[in-house]
Order: sequence, then structure tokens, then C-alpha cells
Amino acid sequence: EYKEIATPARTNMLLEKYGFSFKKSLGQNFLIDTNVINNIITASGITEKSGVIEIGPGMGSLTEQLAKRAKKVLAFEIDQRLMPVLEDTMSPYNNVTIINEDILKADVRTAIETHLNDCEEILVVANLPYYITTPILLGLLEKHLPIKSYVVMMQKEVGDRLSAVPSTKSYGSLSIAVQYYTTVEKVMVVPKGVFMPPPNVDSLVVKLTTLAEPAVNVTDEKLFFKLTRGAFVQRRKTILNNYMSLFKDSKEHKEDILAWLDQSGIQPNRRGESLSLDEFAELANHLTDFKQ
Ligand code: SAM
Repeated sequence: EYKEIATPARTNMLLEKYGFSFKKSLGQNFLIDTNVINNIITASGITEKSGVIEIGPGMGSLTEQLAKRAKKVLAFEIDQRLMPVLEDTMSPYNNVTIINEDILKADVRTAIETHLNDCEEILVVANLPYYITTPILLGLLEKHLPIKSYVVMMQKEVGDRLSAVPSTKSYGSLSIAVQYYTTVEKVMVVPKGVFMPPPNVDSLVVKLTTLAEPAVNVTDEKLFFKLTRGAFVQRRKTILNNYMSLFKDSKEHKEDILAWLDQSGIQPNRRGESLSLDEFAELANHLTDFKQ
């Protein structure tokens, strides 16, 4: 009987057997601690009716525990060198599908319909490749996929940004985008030593639970996100200055922007970092019927 994959002994054995070398450029830091995996599993609330999407299974450390508890597991792994390893480590499980694809290019909606159609709920559970945490999460959230929640490990600094509230250093357009679609909870801080090789930064497991309706009502989502990003282009500058730059190519003049801010109830000398999601929604909804 083999040990769990998420142990130094088994991981070393697999590395040797397959002559595998880690690629830093792919964010390959594999978990070698079963406690951390158990905490991730518990936070995800998986049942035997769940369909789980994993991003970056690596050698299968988390995948094997998902396979034991979920109805089905669908994992996207970009590194072709890991396919024979996963075929080996996942051979005891008949409910795991590995797709050798870049998650940023994959058609996740069709994959859910094809592989997880008989599951009662869809969950994402992953130890993410840190270099693309933001595009992965925003890419999935923006597609309004039928995903109930995401329990994901990421670099701590990014996790802090997802959960940040206004007027804090970490608050920005990423906090707003994620909080537009989900409620954010920090699950646990994870030290470097539980990975092989250890990353340069501490990590955080975060749980995102998809809201039935977006957190605020906006008539034009694209405009809302344009305004939230535009407010933080120069963090130290006022909302007035940031929006004068944002709209410098259109017909909007200073007086128009001042009138719009006034109608939206926003003082022009405030900074973007002090604005709540509700206030950005006011701005977006007033700009639509004001001038574009
Ligand atoms: N789940 C494994 C574990 O915890 O031991 C590995 C996690 S490791 C932090 C990230 C994994 O994501 C690696 O296996 C890497 O090859 C994979 N990966 C990197 N970029 C990817 C992409 N664009 N699409 C899918 N997988 C990717």
C-alpha cells in the first residue's frame, strides 16, 4: 500500500520514478502535507454528490483526496509531462478526468456539461498556479458558470486583496471584482514549508461563495468594471483626476465629470480606495443616463 501523495516520501518516490523536474515558470509547488489538504477538503464542503473542478493537479496530491469524497473530479493540467504521472497515481479512482489543457484557454462550461452533468453541485477546489491566480479567478467568475464555491490556495498577498475592505492598503479593483460575484472568507494561512519546493511567499486558502445575484445592481457591468479599474490607475490621486484621465479621449470635460460625481453623491476629492461597491455602482448607473 502506498502512502498518500501529499507526503515527502511518496512525492520523492514519484519525482524519481518519472525523472520529473519542477518548472518554476508553471508555478509548480506541490503540497506535501496531508493536514493542509484535509483543511482544504473540509472548507470546501464536498459531498458524494459534488462535481469538483481542480486547476493544476500536479502529481495528484489534492486530486486523490477529492476523488475519495466527490462524485466526480475534473482536473485541468497544462504540463504534458504530468500526464503519465497522473495516469499512474489516479489509477485507483474511476471518477477522475484529467484534461491536458491551459485553464485560461479551456472551454470550462462545455467541460462541465460533458463531464459533471450528473453532479448536484459544482465546486472548484485548487492549489492554484500563483503566477495566474487573478486571470484564472476573474476568468471563471466573469463567465457566470454554475459554480457554487471556490476553495483556492493562493499567495497570501493576493488573498488579502480579495477580502480587503475600502480604505485599506489591499483594497482595489481586484477586491471589487471578486466581491461583486462572491462573498470572501479567509480559511487559513499556510507556511512555505508544506510545499515542495517551498515558494518564496506565504500562502492563504480562501473560500469564495457565489452570490445568487451580484453584490450591487448595475445596468452595465463592463462600464462598472471600467470605472472601478480606472479609479485605481493612480492610487494617490483623487477620483476626479483619475476619471479626467480615464475619459481624456472622449468629449467629457471637467465640469461634466464634476456634475456626474455630484449626481452620484461622490465628493471629487475622494480617492478611489475609499469608495465602496455601492458607490461605484452609483457612478456606473449615473454615467449610463448622463453622458457617454
Ligand atoms: N495540486 C498540486 C499540489 O497541490 O500538489 C499542484 C499545485 S501547483 C501550485 C500548480 C499546478 O498548476 C502545477 O501542476 C502546474 O503545472 C499547473 N498549471 C500551471 N499553469 C497552468 C495552466 N495555465 N492551466 C492548468 N494548469 C496549470
